[in-house]
Amino acid sequence: MDKIIKTISNNGHFRAYALEATQTVSEAQKRHKTWSSSTVALGRTLIAAQILGANQKGDDTITVRVQSNGAITSIIAVADTRGNVKGYIKEPNVDYKRGSTGEVLVGDLVGQGWFSVVKDMGLKTPYTGQTPLISGEIGEDLAYYLTTSDQTPSAVGLNVLLNEDESVHVAGGFLVQVMPDAPEAEISDFEARIQKMPAISKLLRSHDHSKAILDAIYGQDQYKILEESPLAFHCDCSKERFAASIQGLGKIEVEKLITENHGAEVICQFCETVYNFSENDLKELI
Ligand SMILES: [Zn+2]
Repeated sequence: MDKIIKTISNNGHFRAYALEATQTVSEAQKRHKTWSSSTVALGRTLIAAQILGANQKGDDTITVRVQSNGAITSIIAVADTRGNVKGYIKEPNVDYKRGSTGEVLVGDLVGQGWFSVVKDMGLKTPYTGQTPLISGEIGEDLAYYLTTSDQTPSAVGLNVLLNEDESVHVAGGFLVQVMPDAPEAEISDFEARIQKMPAISKLLRSHDHSKAILDAIYGQDQYKILEESPLAFHCDCSKERFAASIQGLGKIEVEKLITENHGAEVICQFCETVYNFSENDLKELI
């Protein structure tokens, strides 16, 4: 099962999350029938949303939107604080040659654009933050967003590795943040260690990749585990929810659906679940 491990350094000056998200991304790939580059780009965005969701509390939701001028065009991921994430990519059929390491590259396909985050904390106006895409590789774009818009010095690594048959081999990532009371000297040592960390794609290939990531971040046994909790691709849509949106179209439109279409089919864009409304279902909505 996918999970997030929340940790803190023994001295309390740094904190890190390690995420295992293979099933999350695999589920997204199955539902949206994504091709290789789209799978990786969507998967990375889902992991980014899971990282931001883990930073929130209560019933908050986080929406991450990657808008680009490249082939990918647009990706949306929505996460809650309980590890659930849903999302979709506007162009599911983007496929591109892999790099020499076998990694699927996405930066060039994302191109230039914006990384936007909407935090809905149950207030009237949700908080919105936006930063330009730095590399289009999503992980670096999230780190830049956190460091500039959220003003928390952060390092992020996330990736999705595919098998030869394009199924998801492994997906995961990490977030490292400096705590406000960390002394300068420790910060520079720590940053030097992060700079020298092996690439995330290499760490993800380890047998226990969360442990490999955390050991690389802190040094072996230099941290405490605070919490471990599940992550999953999960959509909260339901027939009732879509019924309410159909009702929202107004009586005339619903009557049209009955007389002209003899029913309605609604597909959830986040999870591709199909909901069928019969004439009788629609009559009840009037
Ligand atoms: Zn859904």
